[in-house]
Amino acid sequence: MSKLKISELFYSIQGEGKYMGVPSVFLRTYGCNFTCGGFGMPKGELSIERDTIAIKAEDYTDYKSLPLVSTGCDSYASWDPRFKHLSPVLDSDAIANSICDLLPGHRWLDEHLVITGGEPLLGWQRAYPDLLSHDRMKALQEITFETNGTQMISPEFGQYLHDWQKMRAKHSITFSVSPKLSISGEKEEEAILPEVINQYQQYGSVYLKFVVATETDVKEAEDAVLKYKRKGFKGHVYLMPCGGVESLYNLNAKNVAIAAMNRGWRYSDRLQVPLFKNEWGT
Ligand code: SF4
Repeated sequence: MSKLKISELFYSIQGEGKYMGVPSVFLRTYGCNFTCGGFGMPKGELSIERDTIAIKAEDYTDYKSLPLVSTGCDSYASWDPRFKHLSPVLDSDAIANSICDLLPGHRWLDEHLVITGGEPLLGWQRAYPDLLSHDRMKALQEITFETNGTQMISPEFGQYLHDWQKMRAKHSITFSVSPKLSISGEKEEEAILPEVINQYQQYGSVYLKFVVATETDVKEAEDAVLKYKRKGFKGHVYLMPCGGVESLYNLNAKNVAIAAMNRGWRYSDRLQVPLFKNEWGT
């Protein structure tokens, strides 16, 4: 039976992107290939807030008690090794049962499964077939992978996704790709990989969601979209406001919406902020 290291498992409303407002179970896997030290900070600085929290990392016994950060990656504990004791390794049977027990009727109706991270398309790809084939997961119809768009799908997992979608007419796979612009602190040559996005299109629908805080970010998003399109990207593009320290930004949510409209792109809110204050488990 396959195992996964799980950071969080919770039931909420999807706050971002195409499925905004849809009741969803979020499965947050442990580990990420990036550290995104940039959001909301002068470029190149590390997250001092996170380092301060990590001094007492051993004192935290669950995600709900972890402080939120206003700079850097807001899901830091899902990959920072100082918090790895908060993420248990569970087998697919335990995870499927926990997922379904979170559903209001303890079975799938119109709910959606969001597999997020960290980066959920790291080595965990090998564990998803066991989980998604579990008896209690059979009525699930829609899955989104929230990814940074840097990890290729393995041939075995690609075949599984292909077969899963053919199983029932309502089965659908979506890749919600959030490519990291320079505001994230990551390098463009490692973050903007059009051939990866092109590959995802073989296995489901793909949209791009750029987190922007300044006009420079919007211009970078435009350049990235051109690169993706040259390699065959055909999906929708979303702009979403940055979630950190607003005083450091030039663009508020309305400006971001206007920037999206002016380019024929879509605007994504972050509903989890006004609804739940972006707390862990929401
Ligand atoms: S890619 Fe996402 S999860 Fe990974 S460090 Fe960046 S913001 Fe955090």
